[in-house]
This record gives sequence, C-alpha cells and structure tokens, in this order.
Amino acid sequence: MTRSLTPRVEAVFWLLLTATGYSLLASLSLYATKGADNIAAVWPASGYLLALLLLMPPRARAAAFGGMAVASMAANMWAGTPFWSSLAFTVSNGVEATIALWLIRRREPGELSFMNPRAVVVFCIAAVVASVASAALATLLSARTPDFFLSWLTTVLLGMLIVTPPIVMLARMMDLKAFDKVPRAMMAEATAILITTGVVTVITFSQSHFPMTFLPCIAVVAAAHRLGPFGAAAGMLIVTIIASLLSGQGYGPIVAIESDPKVKVLYLQFYLLSLLLTTLPLAALLIVRQRLAKRLEQSHRWLLQAEAAALVGHWRVDLVGWTIYWSDQTYRVHGLEPGTPVDVDYSVQQYVDEDRAAVTRVLEEAVRTGEPFEYQGRIVRADGQIRHVKSHGSIERGRGGQAIAIFGTVQDVTETVENARILEAARNAAERVANTDMLTGLPNRRHTLEFLERAIAGAREHGAPLAVAIFDIDHFKRINDAHGHATGDRVIRHVAQRAKSALRDEDMLGRIGGEEFVCILQRSSAQAAEIVAERVRKAVETGTAAEGELPHATISIGLAVYDGEPDVEELLHRADQALYAAKRDGRNRMRGAA
Ligand code: GH3
Ligand code: MG
Ligand code: MG
Repeated sequence: MTRSLTPRVEAVFWLLLTATGYSLLASLSLYATKGADNIAAVWPASGYLLALLLLMPPRARAAAFGGMAVASMAANMWAGTPFWSSLAFTVSNGVEATIALWLIRRREPGELSFMNPRAVVVFCIAAVVASVASAALATLLSARTPDFFLSWLTTVLLGMLIVTPPIVMLARMMDLKAFDKVPRAMMAEATAILITTGVVTVITFSQSHFPMTFLPCIAVVAAAHRLGPFGAAAGMLIVTIIASLLSGQGYGPIVAIESDPKVKVLYLQFYLLSLLLTTLPLAALLIVRQRLAKRLEQSHRWLLQAEAAALVGHWRVDLVGWTIYWSDQTYRVHGLEPGTPVDVDYSVQQYVDEDRAAVTRVLEEAVRTGEPFEYQGRIVRADGQIRHVKSHGSIERGRGGQAIAIFGTVQDVTETVENARILEAARNAAERVANTDMLTGLPNRRHTLEFLERAIAGAREHGAPLAVAIFDIDHFKRINDAHGHATGDRVIRHVAQRAKSALRDEDMLGRIGGEEFVCILQRSSAQAAEIVAERVRKAVETGTAAEGELPHATISIGLAVYDGEPDVEELLHRADQALYAAKRDGRNRMRGAA
C-alpha cells in the first residue's frame, strides 16, 4: 500500500492512519455502545489495529503502536475513564495486538488469507488467545472483578473477529484491483445482499415488538453463501455496527430484556459471536468447495482432452441403479453423438452375437471376484461398421465391500487387430514360400527333413512305427535329353501328383532333390508301409503311361522302417541303400532296407 513512500513518510502515514482510525472507532464505541463498566459492547479499535499491523510493513509497526497509544489514552480519558485505568486499558490493548500479530505471523508468515480455512482457524485462535491475555492484564492492572474480565474478553474478541477480516480483505482486493475484475452482475448482487442485510438489521434492532433477531442471521449466511468470506465479513460488520449502535442508543430487543445492563451487553455480544462463528467457517469451507469443484471441472476437461488424443474412452456401470455413463470418447468409439441416451442393455447388445456371451462372462466374473478385468470383442457401431474394441477395468466397492459399480476404459483397436492379421498372413505366406518347393508345390527339402526329424522324435517317444520311402525317377537324364528340360520339369510335377494321390492323408510327401522324393509314413507297420510304397510306384507307372503326351516315367523306391536310428541322416541313408538296390535290380521296383 505504501510501496512508493520514503521510510519516514511511511512511518508518519501509518502513525496517522492508526491514530485517526483508532481514536474514531474507540470514541464511537465508547460513546454509542458502552456498558456499565465503561466498556463498549464491541471494541472495533482492536480489530482495526490488528488489520493495520497485518497490512503494514514491519518497520512501520513502532509508529503504529505510538499512534495507537496516543489515540487510546485520548479516547478513554475523553469518555471519563481515569488516567491510570486508561493507561492500563491502553497497555492491555497494545499487548493484545502484539500477541495476536505474533501468533498469526508464526503460523502464517506470508499474507493472511481469509479464503483459506486453515488461516481462518489460525486467526480465530490468535484472536482468542490475545483477548484472554489482554482481558487478564486489564483486569489485573485496573484491579477489577471477574465480570470485568469476561466483559473485556468478549468485547475485544468481537472487535478483532468482526473488524479485522473485512479490512484486510478490502485492502487486498483494492491492492490487486480485484474489484475491476468482478463482473457487473456479481457486484450488483453483492450490493443488494449487503443493503438487504443492513435494512433487515435496522428493522430487527430498532423495535422490540416482533422477535426478528433470526433475520440478520439469514442475511449474513446468504452473504457468506453467495459472496464467500468477504460477504461473511462485510455482512457481520454491518450487523455489528447497526446492532451495537441501535442497542447502545436504547432501541431494539436487547434493550427490552428485563435484566442488568451487563447481561444485555453480554446478550448482544454472544448473539454476534454465535453469528460470527457460524458464518466465517461456513464461508471459508464454501470457498474450499468452490475451488475443489473448479479443479474437478478442470481435471474432467483435461481427461476428456487426453481421451480424445489417446482415442481411449471411459465408462461406468452403476450396479445399484443399473445405469451406465459413457465419456465423449466412448460415444465416438461407438459411432454415436456424445450425450445420446444409452443404457446398460444397449451397451451389451452392441457386441456381435459371437462375442457378447464372452464379454458378459468376463464382467460377471469380475463382479463376483472383484478382480480387475480385460476383454476384447467386436461391436456393431451405429453406422453398421464392425469394430474391434478392447476394455480394461476394475470394480468399485461400497462401504460394506459389495460391488457397486464397474469402471472401465474402451479403445478402438480395429487397426491394431487388422495390422496383426495382415502381419500374420504375411508371416504365414513367407513361411509357406520358405517351406514349399516351387516346381511341385510339395514341401521342400528343408521342410521335409525337419518334419522327418519331428516324426523320428515322436516315434521314439511314443514307440509308434515309422517308415520312410525314398524314390527317384528312373533314367531321368534320358527324358531330359530326349524331350528337353521343360518337359522333364512337367514329368517331375506329374510324378509328384501321382505319388501324392496314392498316399493317405496322414502321409507326407516332399521333394528333396532334382527328381528325388521322400514319403514319410507315420504310424505304419512295415507291411502297411510296403503296401503304400508299392501303391505309389504303381500310380506313377500307370499314371504316366495314361498321360500320353508326356514321356513315360517310372520310379524306383527304397523303403526303410525306423529302427531306433539316432538321426534323420542314418534313417535316410538306409532308405537310400534300398533305393540303390532297387535301381540295381532293374528299376521300377521297390526294395526294403536291410
Ligand atoms: P537313374 O535311373 O540311375 O536315376 O538314372 P538318371 O538318369 O535318372 O540319373 P540321376 O538320377 O542321377 O539323374 C538326375 C538327373 O536329373 C540329372 C539332372 O540333369 C536332372 N535334373 C535334376 N533336377 C532337375 C530339374 O529340376 N528339372 C529337370 N528337367 N531335370 C533335373
Ligand atoms: Mg537322381
Ligand atoms: Mg534318376
């Protein structure tokens, strides 16, 4: 407030401000509201001094105390208080301000904010402690009775509790130019509420025919509710000023009480105190609630923005009311306009028939166990598109531990699923290419030998019989030479087809060399294998002959039955030996390995 002043001018400024205000308020309360002990009903000067001490820079405090001392002595003596009593009262008020300031600064070293419930509590405690101390000191120094102690205590306590908050808040708001930012409508509402409070208080305390003391209470609570701590403080100040002045001048319900004047003052003081202790915490709590609501609203906005960016929505099923909530992004996932009415059954019906039961099962299981859940399924969007969605979630429990709601997130994973499918198809295709012989479409050498290796391991493990037949086209060089390489290829392809057609489904046929093939006959006894191998030979012989346009071809077959060989090579070697035997014996025949 006095940022631009030099220290000396600043000291004079605060001295004058303290002295003028203090003497005015002290004189006014002594003149207008004093009780039998020359003690006013409310001592606003205490609250005024504390407010200035909280607002001024620390270096100006000495000057302010000086100003207060002069003003207090003058006001008390002017009101007829003897010198020594005036001095005792002045010292007590000075000590009280010092204690209150010290206690507040100790807990709230920064600016004291009445918007913060903690600060309000600190302020109230400091005011009570300081009032007790000053009441004790004043009673001791002026040698008075316990009645005087109580009377002083409530007087200065009310003075601080009622006067300090509005002055501090008003000064801060002016300093921050906060009034410029207040919307016009709110300003009008504030003015209307405070004027109503004044009018209601005047009506209440200017007559004693109708019991209306509850009306100012309603007005101050309304001010606290609509305007927050500033409304509460300003409303209290208005009620205090009007009620004290009118009662002091002999009007209103307090004066009508048939009792000792001291009791009347006490009644007024407790009336104000109870009003104060109701509205000030209420206003502070309201501010906290408003702040929380604002923060919550902001967090919710951020959540929706984050959801839209991450394409993840959230939903919640209230198991008690059987209602469902969808966030905006959840609506978008379902192809609906946010806010469209939806219910639990609709959300379940969205899933395609094949997936609905599984999704319901996962959710029912989660409700039963209380464990987190995860599922993926296909939904039919409002526009008819089928999309893959993935949900994660958890169960909310009530106080008794029972499940009260399901909370989950939902994400459209169609692209991911599609990509995975394409990737899988590409992988399968690549594997097929890597395993397939391009000329015949049969498994190639690598794949055939791998298969045989697994078949040997299986046979070894389960003791099932296994046989291998190697066959080679007879005099194939001649075919190539006579008809050309391309025809030779067609013969190879044709032989492969004929051989395949003679095998059973469970048998495997692979091309392991130029015109060499392997049949892997699993779970085949030696006799069965011989029959199959012979059938293959015959199929090639007859098939080729019938083809006409292709040169006739036959094959020789070497058959080996698995006999505990440690690896593929050894088993194939035995089959090869048998094949050589077949060639040697004239070709177009089958020979078994020794
Ligand atoms: P044998 O009855 O003793 O088996 O006589 P063969 O003439 O068939 O002798 P061998 O099996 O040793 O000859 C294989 C020939 O097959 C050698 C090669 O020129 C030919 N060949 C190998 N791979 C292919 C192929 O992919 N296409 C064609 N057209 N010919 C091939
Ligand atoms: Mg060969
Ligand atoms: Mg050959």
